[in-house]
Amino acid sequence: MPSERVLADDPRYAATVEKRFNKRFRARPDYVRLVSSTDEVVAAVEEAVREERRLVPTSGGHCLEGFVADPDVRVIVDVSPMKRVYHDAARRAIAVEAGATVGETFRALHETWGTVVPLGEHPAIGVGGHVLGGAFGFLCRQLGLAADYLHAVEVVVVDADGRARAVVATRDGDDAHRDLWWAHTGGGGGNFGVVTRYWFRTPDAIGDDPAALLPRAPASVTTFQAEWSWRDVARAAFARLLRNHGEWCERHAGADSPNATLWALLEIHRAQFGKILVRGVSTDDDAERQIDAHLAALGTGLPVPSNRRVERMPWLAFALDPLPELFASPPGGVSVKVKDALLKRRLGDRQIDVAYEWLTRDDHDVPGGMLGLATYGGRVNVAAADATAAPQRAAIVDLACSTGWLDPRDEARNLAWARGIYGALFDDTGGVPVPGDAYDGALINHPDVDLADPAYNTSGVPWHALYYQGNYPRLQRVKARWDPRDVFRHALSVRPGG
Ligand SMILES: Cc1cc2nc3c(=O)[nH]c(=O)nc-3n(C[C@H](O)[C@H](O)[C@H](O)COP(=O)(O)OP(=O)(O)OC[C@H]3O[C@@H](n4cnc5c(N)ncnc54)[C@H](O)[C@@H]3O)c2cc1C
Repeated sequence: MPSERVLADDPRYAATVEKRFNKRFRARPDYVRLVSSTDEVVAAVEEAVREERRLVPTSGGHCLEGFVADPDVRVIVDVSPMKRVYHDAARRAIAVEAGATVGETFRALHETWGTVVPLGEHPAIGVGGHVLGGAFGFLCRQLGLAADYLHAVEVVVVDADGRARAVVATRDGDDAHRDLWWAHTGGGGGNFGVVTRYWFRTPDAIGDDPAALLPRAPASVTTFQAEWSWRDVARAAFARLLRNHGEWCERHAGADSPNATLWALLEIHRAQFGKILVRGVSTDDDAERQIDAHLAALGTGLPVPSNRRVERMPWLAFALDPLPELFASPPGGVSVKVKDALLKRRLGDRQIDVAYEWLTRDDHDVPGGMLGLATYGGRVNVAAADATAAPQRAAIVDLACSTGWLDPRDEARNLAWARGIYGALFDDTGGVPVPGDAYDGALINHPDVDLADPAYNTSGVPWHALYYQGNYPRLQRVKARWDPRDVFRHALSVRPGG
């Protein structure tokens, strides 16, 4: 039985269309397909292609751009009913269907085998659109990217004649489909086909015991938070804080650093919001000492931060509701813009000045504006840039200029602020983090269509070099082989190439 066409008068249509995290965009498809098996995906894709209706897959709805919520899309294939997580003895791997969320996957892995894949930071993200973008998370400094554990992937692809079929592609050196596996280790969502299933295994795992195929989950984690009032942080103290933070990240970005067990985010909200926060999580045996040392390093020369909270909890309790205020969203959701950049070294003095100006100036009324600086590196940087499709293997900080708003009338001023601070920070390289000595480009899991817009990217370096660096030509060859009709496309999708 093929899956049903879910039309606009069916509440399930709204459930798919409205689940998007970013309310800035909205889809109006002719219909939605809620698919429960790989065969249903094959049938749904082939029919949409035959009828020349543009289709996109969706899983968790957490795309930051309008790649799914695109008014030109005619069919949304929603894989979220496919949620099984199970041991596949024949493949010696743990299979996760593409509709499972990050939280559901964490739970199943932990409750069944006591293991973990270092997935992303928000439990509602769908693995369908997440893992294939590389996928970093709270544990990435100690375990690497989720894609580093991808052993195989099942994808529904469309050939030159418009026929759909499911293909399994593995990491095995002698697999004729290996290029398709590689493209799903960082190539990004909506590019090559519809992923229906992933298989995970640590590359050097030995034996058949399912509990030994992936890293052990941490026994417990310790979260922390502290804050400074903007009232106590004048320009000099601000510069000191950012220098302290940058120096800590430079010193502790090595894969073997004892501080790879610590992840932290410096949330520098605009001054009108009132405060600067640092939040984080440690899995270290002596977490309290590690956290004390981190906060002391950040706070050297600053007033003592207030509202300091440290809390120990079981891994799963944390993973299912991590740092609750971080992604808190009001009822009805929020519109957001996120502009991401990876830094290979700390921000320079000019950039710190720029940040101070844009975070404190009062000619912009943008209460949701924030500069986020998250620790990065550690074991992410162990893999070679071309070992997976995720080339960013030398960064020490993930920087994000972000903002969120409720009223559509506030969109223009929020976008102006986010574009303004980002462009000014990277002014020396054409307004974008051009890969080189200082920057490692940007993450495709945080797509930003501005990087393809000459109004905001004046570097002369194309958007795909920012996201994929030297891996782009290979991704284009994979695209030409597996999606020759360019069925799966969006504003930042890989273009077919020879
Ligand atoms: C609040 C929030 C927190 C985040 N935190 C992190 C983080 O910690 N780490 C990180 O790496 N990223 C993070 N992200 C980004 C997230 O990983 C990406 O947006 C991811 O693409 C979302 O996948 P999804 O299935 O939930 O989204 P969707 O909106 O459903 O899809 C996103 C993209 O993937 C495609 N896609 C979806 N399902 C499939 C499929 N089955 N096969 C092929 N393509 C598919 C879609 O067509 C679309 O292009 C975060 C995003 C948000 C909004």
